[in-house]
Amino acid sequence: MTRLLHRAIHSRMPVAVGGRGIELFDAEGKAYIDASGGAAVSCLGHAHPAVLSALHEQLDRLAYAHTGFFTSEAAEALAELLIADAPAGLSHAYLVSGGSEAVEAALKMARQYFVEKGEPQRRHIIARRQSYHGNTLGALAAGGNEWRRAQFKPLLVETHHIDPCYAYRLQESGESDEAYAARAAQQLEDKILELGADEVIAFVAETVVGATAGAVPPVADYLKRIRAICDRYGVLLILDEVMCGMGRTGTLHACEQDGVAPDLMTIAKGLGGGYQPVGAVLLSEKIFEAFASGSGFFQHGHTYMGHPMAAAAGLAVQQVIRRENLLANVVAMGAELESQLVERLGNHHHVGDIRGRGLFRGVELVADRAGKQPFDPKFKLNGLIKKEAMARGLMVYPMGGTIDGRQGDHVLIAPPFIVERADITRIVERLGDAIDAAV
Ligand code: PLP
Repeated sequence: MTRLLHRAIHSRMPVAVGGRGIELFDAEGKAYIDASGGAAVSCLGHAHPAVLSALHEQLDRLAYAHTGFFTSEAAEALAELLIADAPAGLSHAYLVSGGSEAVEAALKMARQYFVEKGEPQRRHIIARRQSYHGNTLGALAAGGNEWRRAQFKPLLVETHHIDPCYAYRLQESGESDEAYAARAAQQLEDKILELGADEVIAFVAETVVGATAGAVPPVADYLKRIRAICDRYGVLLILDEVMCGMGRTGTLHACEQDGVAPDLMTIAKGLGGGYQPVGAVLLSEKIFEAFASGSGFFQHGHTYMGHPMAAAAGLAVQQVIRRENLLANVVAMGAELESQLVERLGNHHHVGDIRGRGLFRGVELVADRAGKQPFDPKFKLNGLIKKEAMARGLMVYPMGGTIDGRQGDHVLIAPPFIVERADITRIVERLGDAIDAAV
Protein backbone atom coordinates (compact mmCIF):
# COMPACT_ATOMS: atom_id res chain seq x y z
CA MET A 1 0.00 0.00 0.00
CA THR A 2 1.50 3.28 -1.08
CA ARG A 3 0.66 6.76 0.22
CA LEU A 4 2.12 8.32 -2.90
CA LEU A 5 -0.43 9.36 -5.52
CA HIS A 6 1.14 7.95 -8.66
CA ARG A 7 0.51 9.14 -12.22
CA ALA A 8 -1.45 5.97 -12.94
CA ILE A 9 -2.99 4.75 -9.72
CA HIS A 10 -3.31 1.10 -10.68
CA SER A 11 0.00 0.50 -12.36
CA ARG A 12 2.87 -0.89 -10.36
CA MET A 13 6.16 0.86 -10.93
CA PRO A 14 9.55 -0.69 -10.31
CA VAL A 15 11.49 1.25 -7.67
CA ALA A 16 14.43 3.09 -9.24
CA VAL A 17 17.42 2.91 -6.90
CA GLY A 18 20.34 3.93 -9.05
CA GLY A 19 21.59 5.14 -12.37
CA ARG A 20 24.91 5.19 -14.16
CA GLY A 21 25.65 6.30 -17.71
CA ILE A 22 22.78 5.33 -19.99
CA GLU A 23 21.30 2.82 -17.53
CA LEU A 24 18.87 2.93 -14.61
CA PHE A 25 18.59 0.14 -12.03
CA ASP A 26 15.58 -0.99 -10.03
CA ALA A 27 15.43 -2.42 -6.51
CA GLU A 28 15.50 -5.99 -7.88
CA GLY A 29 18.79 -5.27 -9.62
CA LYS A 30 17.34 -5.13 -13.12
CA ALA A 31 18.99 -2.69 -15.56
CA TYR A 32 17.08 -0.57 -18.07
CA ILE A 33 18.64 1.32 -20.98
CA ASP A 34 17.30 4.85 -20.65
CA ALA A 35 16.61 5.34 -24.36
CA SER A 36 14.23 8.24 -23.85
CA GLY A 37 16.03 10.10 -21.06
CA GLY A 38 12.74 9.73 -19.15
CA ALA A 39 10.85 12.26 -21.28
CA ALA A 40 13.88 13.62 -23.18
CA VAL A 41 15.42 14.87 -19.94
CA SER A 42 18.59 12.92 -19.06
CA CYS A 43 20.81 14.25 -21.83
CA LEU A 44 24.05 13.30 -20.04
CA GLY A 45 22.78 10.02 -18.69
CA HIS A 46 23.00 9.33 -14.99
CA ALA A 47 25.61 10.12 -12.33
CA HIS A 48 27.88 12.21 -14.54
CA PRO A 49 30.84 12.91 -12.21
CA ALA A 50 31.34 16.55 -13.28
CA VAL A 51 27.71 17.40 -12.57
CA LEU A 52 27.71 15.57 -9.25
CA SER A 53 30.77 17.39 -8.04
CA ALA A 54 29.37 20.79 -9.15
CA LEU A 55 26.21 20.03 -7.19
CA HIS A 56 28.08 18.92 -4.08
CA GLU A 57 30.13 22.08 -4.22
CA GLN A 58 27.07 24.32 -4.63
CA LEU A 59 25.27 22.59 -1.77
CA ASP A 60 28.25 23.12 0.51
CA ARG A 61 28.31 26.83 -0.32
CA LEU A 62 24.67 27.86 -0.73
CA ALA A 63 21.52 25.80 -1.15
CA TYR A 64 18.97 28.59 -1.42
CA ALA A 65 18.59 32.34 -1.39
CA HIS A 66 15.31 34.02 -2.30
CA THR A 67 15.54 36.01 -5.54
CA GLY A 68 13.52 38.83 -3.98
CA PHE A 69 16.57 39.51 -1.79
CA PHE A 70 19.62 38.11 -3.54
CA THR A 71 20.99 37.00 -6.84
CA SER A 72 23.46 34.11 -6.90
CA GLU A 73 26.68 33.34 -8.75
CA ALA A 74 25.21 30.17 -10.22
CA ALA A 75 22.11 31.89 -11.62
CA GLU A 76 24.15 34.77 -13.08
CA ALA A 77 26.63 32.38 -14.68
CA LEU A 78 23.91 30.20 -16.19
CA ALA A 79 22.11 33.22 -17.67
CA GLU A 80 25.40 34.47 -19.10
CA LEU A 81 26.12 31.15 -20.76
CA LEU A 82 22.58 30.70 -22.11
CA ILE A 83 22.56 34.14 -23.70
CA ALA A 84 26.06 33.76 -25.13
CA ASP A 85 24.76 30.83 -27.22
CA ALA A 86 21.17 31.99 -27.76
CA PRO A 87 19.51 32.65 -31.13
CA ALA A 88 19.98 36.21 -32.42
CA GLY A 89 18.13 38.89 -30.51
CA LEU A 90 17.56 36.97 -27.28
CA SER A 91 19.23 38.96 -24.55
CA HIS A 92 18.04 37.81 -21.11
CA ALA A 93 17.21 34.58 -19.32
CA TYR A 94 14.46 34.11 -16.74
CA LEU A 95 15.10 31.00 -14.66
CA VAL A 96 12.26 28.77 -13.48
CA SER A 97 11.78 25.20 -12.27
CA GLY A 98 10.56 23.40 -15.39
CA GLY A 99 8.83 23.43 -18.74
CA SER A 100 5.26 24.31 -17.75
CA GLU A 101 6.52 27.18 -15.60
CA ALA A 102 8.62 28.41 -18.52
CA VAL A 103 5.63 28.39 -20.85
CA GLU A 104 3.42 30.14 -18.28
CA ALA A 105 6.05 32.84 -17.83
CA ALA A 106 6.55 33.25 -21.59
CA LEU A 107 2.82 33.69 -22.20
CA LYS A 108 2.63 36.29 -19.44
CA MET A 109 5.74 38.09 -20.71
CA ALA A 110 4.16 38.29 -24.16
CA ARG A 111 0.97 39.79 -22.75
CA GLN A 112 2.82 42.23 -20.46
CA TYR A 113 4.98 43.35 -23.37
CA PHE A 114 1.92 44.65 -25.21
CA VAL A 115 0.45 46.21 -22.06
CA GLU A 116 3.75 48.07 -21.52
CA LYS A 117 3.68 49.17 -25.16
CA GLY A 118 0.16 50.57 -24.86
CA GLU A 119 -1.57 47.80 -26.83
CA PRO A 120 -3.69 46.20 -24.09
CA GLN A 121 -6.31 45.14 -26.65
CA ARG A 122 -3.99 42.31 -27.73
CA ARG A 123 -5.42 39.28 -25.99
CA HIS A 124 -5.34 36.21 -28.23
CA ILE A 125 -2.84 33.38 -28.24
CA ILE A 126 -2.66 31.11 -31.29
CA ALA A 127 -1.13 27.63 -31.05
CA ARG A 128 -1.35 24.34 -32.95
CA ARG A 129 -3.59 21.32 -32.53
CA GLN A 130 -0.73 18.86 -32.34
CA SER A 131 1.16 20.30 -29.39
CA TYR A 132 1.92 20.02 -25.72
CA HIS A 133 3.11 23.01 -23.75
CA GLY A 134 2.68 21.80 -20.18
CA ASN A 135 0.07 20.89 -17.61
CA THR A 136 -0.52 24.10 -15.65
CA LEU A 137 -3.70 25.88 -16.70
CA GLY A 138 -2.15 28.52 -18.98
CA ALA A 139 0.21 26.08 -20.66
CA LEU A 140 -2.55 23.50 -20.97
CA ALA A 141 -4.76 26.13 -22.59
CA ALA A 142 -2.04 26.81 -25.16
CA GLY A 143 -1.50 23.12 -25.92
CA GLY A 144 -3.65 21.28 -28.41
CA ASN A 145 -3.73 17.80 -26.92
CA GLU A 146 -7.45 17.12 -26.48
CA TRP A 147 -6.95 14.12 -24.24
CA ARG A 148 -5.07 16.20 -21.68
CA ARG A 149 -7.40 19.20 -21.97
CA ALA A 150 -10.86 17.62 -22.10
CA GLN A 151 -11.97 17.64 -18.47
CA PHE A 152 -10.30 20.96 -17.64
CA LYS A 153 -11.74 22.94 -20.55
CA PRO A 154 -14.06 25.13 -18.44
CA LEU A 155 -10.98 26.40 -16.58
CA LEU A 156 -8.88 27.11 -19.64
CA VAL A 157 -8.58 30.52 -21.24
CA GLU A 158 -9.59 30.47 -24.88
CA THR A 159 -6.71 29.70 -27.20
CA HIS A 160 -7.01 29.40 -30.95
CA HIS A 161 -5.55 26.40 -32.70
CA ILE A 162 -4.40 25.87 -36.25
CA ASP A 163 -3.17 22.66 -37.87
CA PRO A 164 0.34 21.46 -37.16
CA CYS A 165 3.01 21.10 -39.80
CA TYR A 166 2.76 17.32 -39.99
CA ALA A 167 3.89 16.09 -43.37
CA TYR A 168 3.15 12.37 -42.86
CA ARG A 169 -0.58 12.94 -42.52
CA LEU A 170 -1.34 16.44 -43.79
CA GLN A 171 0.86 16.85 -46.86
CA GLU A 172 -1.18 16.00 -49.95
CA SER A 173 0.15 13.49 -52.42
CA GLY A 174 2.06 15.26 -55.16
CA GLU A 175 2.30 18.44 -53.07
CA SER A 176 5.86 19.79 -52.84
CA ASP A 177 7.39 20.59 -49.44
CA GLU A 178 7.40 24.23 -50.41
CA ALA A 179 3.71 24.25 -51.31
CA TYR A 180 2.85 22.36 -48.14
CA ALA A 181 4.89 24.78 -45.98
CA ALA A 182 3.06 27.71 -47.57
CA ARG A 183 -0.36 26.09 -47.06
CA ALA A 184 0.32 25.14 -43.43
CA ALA A 185 1.75 28.57 -42.54
CA GLN A 186 -1.11 30.36 -44.31
CA GLN A 187 -3.42 29.04 -41.60
CA LEU A 188 -1.65 31.32 -39.14
CA GLU A 189 -2.20 34.40 -41.26
CA ASP A 190 -5.84 33.47 -41.82
CA LYS A 191 -6.36 33.01 -38.07
CA ILE A 192 -4.67 36.33 -37.23
CA LEU A 193 -6.90 38.14 -39.72
CA GLU A 194 -9.99 36.37 -38.41
CA LEU A 195 -9.21 37.40 -34.82
CA GLY A 196 -8.13 40.93 -35.72
CA ALA A 197 -4.55 41.74 -36.69
CA ASP A 198 -4.00 44.04 -33.71
CA GLU A 199 -5.62 41.72 -31.17
CA VAL A 200 -3.20 38.80 -31.29
CA ILE A 201 -0.41 38.54 -28.72
CA ALA A 202 1.61 35.56 -29.86
CA PHE A 203 1.87 32.35 -31.80
CA VAL A 204 3.38 29.51 -29.77
CA ALA A 205 4.74 26.30 -31.26
CA GLU A 206 7.22 23.54 -30.58
CA THR A 207 10.02 23.75 -33.14
CA VAL A 208 10.05 19.95 -33.39
CA VAL A 209 6.86 18.52 -31.89
CA GLY A 210 7.68 16.11 -29.08
CA ALA A 211 5.41 14.18 -26.79
CA THR A 212 2.14 14.76 -28.63
CA ALA A 213 3.42 13.71 -32.00
CA GLY A 214 6.70 11.82 -31.70
CA ALA A 215 9.51 14.04 -32.99
CA VAL A 216 7.77 15.75 -35.91
CA PRO A 217 10.05 18.36 -37.50
CA PRO A 218 8.65 21.19 -39.62
CA VAL A 219 9.09 20.93 -43.39
CA ALA A 220 11.70 23.26 -44.88
CA ASP A 221 10.64 26.91 -44.93
CA TYR A 222 7.59 26.49 -42.71
CA LEU A 223 9.09 28.32 -39.73
CA LYS A 224 10.57 31.06 -41.92
CA ARG A 225 7.08 31.70 -43.28
CA ILE A 226 5.66 31.68 -39.75
CA ARG A 227 8.30 34.19 -38.65
CA ALA A 228 7.44 36.47 -41.58
CA ILE A 229 3.71 36.32 -40.82
CA CYS A 230 4.31 37.14 -37.14
CA ASP A 231 6.47 40.10 -38.16
CA ARG A 232 3.87 41.34 -40.63
CA TYR A 233 1.27 41.70 -37.85
CA GLY A 234 3.53 42.49 -34.90
CA VAL A 235 2.67 39.13 -33.31
CA LEU A 236 5.33 37.60 -31.04
CA LEU A 237 6.76 34.20 -31.91
CA ILE A 238 7.24 31.89 -28.92
CA LEU A 239 9.17 28.72 -29.70
CA ASP A 240 8.74 26.01 -27.10
CA GLU A 241 11.99 24.05 -27.07
CA VAL A 242 11.40 22.48 -23.67
CA MET A 243 11.74 19.02 -25.19
CA CYS A 244 13.53 19.50 -28.50
CA GLY A 245 16.03 22.12 -27.36
CA MET A 246 19.45 22.25 -25.69
CA GLY A 247 21.20 19.99 -28.16
CA ARG A 248 18.64 17.22 -28.55
CA THR A 249 18.32 17.70 -32.33
CA GLY A 250 22.05 18.13 -33.00
CA THR A 251 22.22 21.92 -32.71
CA LEU A 252 21.96 23.67 -29.38
CA HIS A 253 18.58 25.10 -30.38
CA ALA A 254 16.38 23.24 -32.83
CA CYS A 255 15.32 26.48 -34.56
CA GLU A 256 18.91 27.10 -35.69
CA GLN A 257 18.31 24.42 -38.33
CA ASP A 258 15.31 26.37 -39.63
CA GLY A 259 17.16 29.69 -39.76
CA VAL A 260 14.65 31.32 -37.43
CA ALA A 261 14.99 33.15 -34.11
CA PRO A 262 11.95 33.60 -31.85
CA ASP A 263 11.01 36.55 -29.63
CA LEU A 264 10.68 34.22 -26.66
CA MET A 265 12.00 30.72 -26.24
CA THR A 266 11.25 28.19 -23.51
CA ILE A 267 13.79 25.55 -22.51
CA ALA A 268 13.87 22.98 -19.68
CA LYS A 269 14.38 19.17 -19.65
CA GLY A 270 17.88 18.87 -21.21
CA LEU A 271 18.89 22.19 -19.69
CA GLY A 272 19.56 20.51 -16.36
CA GLY A 273 19.55 16.94 -17.64
CA GLY A 274 17.36 15.84 -14.72
CA TYR A 275 20.03 16.63 -12.11
CA GLN A 276 17.76 19.36 -10.76
CA PRO A 277 14.39 20.76 -11.89
CA VAL A 278 15.27 23.78 -14.02
CA GLY A 279 13.82 25.65 -16.96
CA ALA A 280 14.16 29.08 -18.53
CA VAL A 281 12.57 31.63 -20.77
CA LEU A 282 14.98 33.41 -23.09
CA LEU A 283 13.53 36.77 -24.08
CA SER A 284 14.45 39.26 -26.73
CA GLU A 285 16.02 42.63 -26.15
CA LYS A 286 12.85 44.42 -27.30
CA ILE A 287 10.76 42.66 -24.63
CA PHE A 288 13.38 43.30 -21.97
CA GLU A 289 13.54 46.98 -23.01
CA ALA A 290 9.75 47.34 -22.83
CA PHE A 291 9.84 46.09 -19.22
CA ALA A 292 12.99 48.03 -18.29
CA SER A 293 11.76 51.34 -19.63
CA GLY A 294 8.17 50.70 -18.55
CA SER A 295 7.05 49.31 -15.21
CA GLY A 296 10.57 48.12 -14.34
CA PHE A 297 9.62 44.57 -13.54
CA PHE A 298 8.01 41.45 -14.88
CA GLN A 299 4.81 40.85 -12.94
CA HIS A 300 5.45 37.22 -12.06
CA GLY A 301 7.65 35.15 -9.74
CA HIS A 302 7.83 31.81 -7.97
CA THR A 303 9.56 31.02 -4.69
CA TYR A 304 12.04 28.70 -6.37
CA MET A 305 12.85 30.75 -9.48
CA GLY A 306 16.59 31.09 -10.01
CA HIS A 307 17.26 28.41 -7.40
CA PRO A 308 21.05 28.17 -6.93
CA MET A 309 21.11 24.35 -6.93
CA ALA A 310 19.03 24.22 -10.12
CA ALA A 311 21.18 26.87 -11.76
CA ALA A 312 24.36 25.02 -10.75
CA ALA A 313 23.00 21.83 -12.30
CA GLY A 314 22.08 23.62 -15.53
CA LEU A 315 25.46 25.28 -15.67
CA ALA A 316 27.38 22.05 -15.07
CA VAL A 317 25.35 20.10 -17.65
CA GLN A 318 25.77 22.80 -20.28
CA GLN A 319 29.49 23.07 -19.60
CA VAL A 320 29.93 19.31 -20.03
CA ILE A 321 28.05 19.38 -23.35
CA ARG A 322 30.41 22.05 -24.65
CA ARG A 323 33.62 20.66 -23.13
CA GLU A 324 33.02 17.12 -24.39
CA ASN A 325 31.77 18.34 -27.78
CA LEU A 326 28.66 16.22 -27.33
CA LEU A 327 26.65 17.90 -30.08
CA ALA A 328 28.93 16.18 -32.60
CA ASN A 329 27.99 12.86 -31.02
CA VAL A 330 24.30 13.80 -31.17
CA VAL A 331 24.65 14.36 -34.92
CA ALA A 332 26.66 11.17 -35.55
CA MET A 333 24.63 8.90 -33.27
CA GLY A 334 21.40 10.52 -34.46
CA ALA A 335 22.22 9.48 -38.02
CA GLU A 336 23.13 6.01 -36.74
CA LEU A 337 19.86 5.74 -34.83
CA GLU A 338 17.88 6.79 -37.87
CA SER A 339 19.58 4.30 -40.15
CA GLN A 340 19.23 1.41 -37.68
CA LEU A 341 15.55 2.27 -37.12
CA VAL A 342 14.95 2.32 -40.87
CA GLU A 343 16.78 -0.98 -41.30
CA ARG A 344 14.92 -2.77 -38.49
CA LEU A 345 11.49 -1.13 -38.79
CA GLY A 346 11.37 0.62 -42.16
CA ASN A 347 9.40 -2.18 -43.82
CA HIS A 348 7.45 -3.24 -40.76
CA HIS A 349 3.77 -3.51 -41.69
CA HIS A 350 2.75 -1.57 -38.56
CA VAL A 351 5.30 1.23 -38.90
CA GLY A 352 3.93 4.20 -40.85
CA ASP A 353 6.64 6.79 -40.37
CA ILE A 354 10.13 7.20 -38.91
CA ARG A 355 11.16 10.82 -38.41
CA GLY A 356 13.03 13.33 -36.29
CA ARG A 357 16.34 15.09 -35.95
CA GLY A 358 19.52 14.20 -34.06
CA LEU A 359 18.87 12.02 -31.02
CA PHE A 360 15.16 12.89 -31.15
CA ARG A 361 13.37 10.27 -33.21
CA GLY A 362 9.78 9.14 -33.52
CA VAL A 363 8.21 5.98 -34.89
CA GLU A 364 4.52 6.21 -35.77
CA LEU A 365 2.60 2.94 -35.58
CA VAL A 366 -0.43 2.22 -37.71
CA ALA A 367 -2.92 -0.63 -38.06
CA ASP A 368 -2.77 -0.37 -41.84
CA ARG A 369 0.37 1.02 -43.41
CA ALA A 370 -1.02 1.71 -46.89
CA GLY A 371 -4.04 3.64 -45.60
CA LYS A 372 -2.14 5.17 -42.63
CA GLN A 373 -5.01 3.94 -40.47
CA PRO A 374 -4.20 4.31 -36.74
CA PHE A 375 -4.88 1.54 -34.24
CA ASP A 376 -8.12 1.75 -32.28
CA PRO A 377 -7.24 3.80 -29.16
CA LYS A 378 -9.08 1.16 -27.09
CA PHE A 379 -6.25 -1.21 -27.96
CA LYS A 380 -3.96 1.01 -25.83
CA LEU A 381 -0.94 0.14 -27.94
CA ASN A 382 1.27 2.67 -26.19
CA GLY A 383 0.76 0.89 -22.85
CA LEU A 384 1.54 -2.47 -24.43
CA ILE A 385 4.75 -1.22 -25.99
CA LYS A 386 5.88 0.35 -22.74
CA LYS A 387 5.26 -2.93 -20.91
CA GLU A 388 7.07 -5.01 -23.54
CA ALA A 389 9.98 -2.58 -23.66
CA MET A 390 10.37 -2.41 -19.87
CA ALA A 391 10.26 -6.23 -19.73
CA ARG A 392 13.25 -6.17 -22.11
CA GLY A 393 15.13 -3.60 -20.01
CA LEU A 394 14.37 -0.65 -22.29
CA MET A 395 12.85 2.74 -21.54
CA VAL A 396 11.27 4.47 -24.53
CA TYR A 397 8.43 7.01 -24.49
CA PRO A 398 5.30 5.66 -26.19
CA MET A 399 2.23 7.88 -26.57
CA GLY A 400 -1.29 7.09 -27.71
CA GLY A 401 -2.79 8.41 -30.93
CA THR A 402 -5.59 10.96 -31.03
CA ILE A 403 -9.20 9.89 -30.52
CA ASP A 404 -10.26 11.56 -33.78
CA GLY A 405 -7.83 9.39 -35.76
CA ARG A 406 -5.77 12.41 -36.88
CA GLN A 407 -2.71 10.66 -35.58
CA GLY A 408 -1.54 7.16 -34.68
CA ASP A 409 0.35 5.84 -31.68
CA HIS A 410 4.01 6.67 -31.65
CA VAL A 411 7.20 5.91 -29.76
CA LEU A 412 9.69 8.63 -28.93
CA ILE A 413 13.37 7.69 -28.69
CA ALA A 414 15.66 10.26 -27.08
CA PRO A 415 18.76 8.62 -25.61
CA PRO A 416 21.48 10.51 -23.71
CA PHE A 417 24.03 12.43 -25.79
CA ILE A 418 26.79 10.07 -24.58
CA VAL A 419 25.24 7.07 -26.34
CA GLU A 420 27.52 4.88 -28.48
CA ARG A 421 26.93 2.81 -31.61
CA ALA A 422 26.68 -0.50 -29.71
CA ASP A 423 24.09 1.08 -27.39
CA ILE A 424 22.03 2.16 -30.39
CA THR A 425 22.08 -1.41 -31.69
CA ARG A 426 20.80 -2.73 -28.35
CA ILE A 427 18.11 -0.03 -28.21
CA VAL A 428 16.82 -0.71 -31.74
CA GLU A 429 16.88 -4.51 -31.25
CA ARG A 430 14.90 -4.29 -28.01
CA LEU A 431 12.47 -1.73 -29.45
CA GLY A 432 11.88 -3.85 -32.56
CA ASP A 433 11.21 -6.91 -30.39
CA ALA A 434 8.87 -4.93 -28.11
CA ILE A 435 6.85 -3.68 -31.09
CA ASP A 436 6.67 -7.19 -32.57
CA ALA A 437 5.46 -8.55 -29.23
CA ALA A 438 2.88 -5.76 -28.81
CA VAL A 439 1.25 -5.95 -32.23
N1 PLP B 1 6.63 22.06 -23.40
C1 PLP B 1 6.98 20.94 -24.06
C2 PLP B 1 7.29 21.01 -25.53
C3 PLP B 1 7.06 19.72 -23.39
O1 PLP B 1 7.40 18.61 -24.05
C4 PLP B 1 6.79 19.70 -22.00
C5 PLP B 1 6.86 18.43 -21.25
O2 PLP B 1 6.84 17.36 -21.79
C6 PLP B 1 6.43 20.89 -21.36
C7 PLP B 1 6.37 22.05 -22.09
C8 PLP B 1 6.13 20.90 -19.88
O3 PLP B 1 7.30 20.69 -19.18
P1 PLP B 1 7.28 20.17 -17.66
O4 PLP B 1 6.77 18.78 -17.69
O5 PLP B 1 8.72 20.29 -17.23
O6 PLP B 1 6.41 21.09 -16.89
